[in-house]
Amino acid sequence: MVPLRTLDDLKATMTETPMPTFDGRALINGERVAARDGQTFDCISPVDGRVLTQVARCAGADVDTAVSAARAAFEDRRWVGKAPAQRKRIMIRFAELIQANADALALTEALDMGKPIKYAKGVDVNSAANCIRWYGEAVDKIYDEIAPTPQTALALITREPVGVVGVIVPWNYPMIMAAWKIAPALAVGNSVVLKPSEKSPLTALRLAELALEAGIPPGVFNVVPGYGPEAGSPLALHMDVDCIAFTGSTRVGKQIHVMAGQSNLKRAWTELGGKSPNIVFADCPDLDKAVDAAVGSIFFNQGESCNAPSRLFVEASIKEAFLEKALAKVPGYQPGNPLDRNTVMGAIVDETQLSTVLRYIESGKSEGAKLLAGGERVSPVAGGCYVQPTIFDGVTNDMTIAREEIFGPVLSVLSFSDAADVVRQANSNVYGLQAAVWTRDINKAHGVARALRAGTVHVNSYDEDDITVPFGGFKQSGVGRDKSLHAFDKYTETKTTWIRIDSPV
Ligand code: NAD
Repeated sequence: MVPLRTLDDLKATMTETPMPTFDGRALINGERVAARDGQTFDCISPVDGRVLTQVARCAGADVDTAVSAARAAFEDRRWVGKAPAQRKRIMIRFAELIQANADALALTEALDMGKPIKYAKGVDVNSAANCIRWYGEAVDKIYDEIAPTPQTALALITREPVGVVGVIVPWNYPMIMAAWKIAPALAVGNSVVLKPSEKSPLTALRLAELALEAGIPPGVFNVVPGYGPEAGSPLALHMDVDCIAFTGSTRVGKQIHVMAGQSNLKRAWTELGGKSPNIVFADCPDLDKAVDAAVGSIFFNQGESCNAPSRLFVEASIKEAFLEKALAKVPGYQPGNPLDRNTVMGAIVDETQLSTVLRYIESGKSEGAKLLAGGERVSPVAGGCYVQPTIFDGVTNDMTIAREEIFGPVLSVLSFSDAADVVRQANSNVYGLQAAVWTRDINKAHGVARALRAGTVHVNSYDEDDITVPFGGFKQSGVGRDKSLHAFDKYTETKTTWIRIDSPV
């Protein structure tokens, strides 16, 4: 990969910025390789529609080669055989290299996926590096167990890596989603085959190069870019993959569980969609803070966040005042060139996703919701994929924009009469990823938080986040948890070893 410009060079708009060159080849067994059949696809930037590079269009044969390399690396113990403290040092080095390449990685992410460069660097690069460092640091501090059995035997309960882990991730936080899975999987000694999204494959390939540079042996971390049905399905169906860790839509997540069952009953973990309720009671302790969180969180990352608070429930008596404040914030979120450091909302990932967002906006209008702000495609950079921050009022829970995940900067505002009413409405959705409740009443806060069916509930905030806490969903938001020490459960098997003690003293 040719060295990229630094952020300081990026004051100009992209159209004035010479395009860096990227290497879109797969990374298998420590080597950059083309797809076996030579097929490629265009990697198009949503910033202005340019083709960034050609990417290897991997398919079954490439997945087979990558899985064989991963299996060989696992069997000869070139990675799992290292002492945990040694793996720790290499993982920390890997994190340091990510940090050392922060500008280039951030620029790649902004160009490939359309997010503002300041968040690509400040959030995505930092979080990915922190995650890899955290799991590296954790791995030599975890002890196994001895069971309280009778004295005639010793029962050791130990954790072992599952073996070869397939990882499939989406395009919205390409580095973070990959790091949440590869970090715990690699730290405990597994080999990994990662399939990034076809919409944002470039940083995953670069991460694998940095892992090699850090000392993770060839074959341990492989990346096979390509389309879901062509490269993802062969990975999920593979008879020699022991675990598949997937983040993406609920539609494909269901197929992943079927493919796991149809093949070798590999462990399948799925982090899926959301339609998170953000509930503001009239006794909210700080209305301005609640407005900032409601608006900032739905428009962050162009609304392309699984946990975006896309359903805003405001108690009827304060709704008007709340919306007035919210609308005043909207001009601050107009989309701009992602490469401009002042931009807070960038481009939608591609034309297909942009059409989906616009279709949902049309459905909101036709089903009777009231468009308060936005709703239109705009062109801050010619040829790019941009849409205005959009707010609908008068939404009811039966409308499509209240039920389905839009994955764009569209806020649906609903109202409620009391706690029981809002809990019923909030829970009447297939998803259960995240939720928030704003109130100064501790009893109400606790009662509502308990009653909400969601993997994470915030009280008087929305965006608390830390690698130490689990992340994942109830209901159709998925199975399993990323982040925290709990994530190790996904990538390890529990083994019991009985040792007979014939003559206890
Ligand atoms: P997607 O399901 O379309 O694709 C996700 C990944 O699966 C991609 O790499 C894709 O190529 C692959 N894929 C597609 N079809 C496949 C198939 N038949 N077999 C195997 N792999 C296949 O999702 P997306 O559009 O990339 O991402 C958006 C979705 O991800 C949203 O629903 C969002 O909520 C969800 N998401 C969830 C979390 C979470 O932690 N819960 C985090 C981020 C995104």
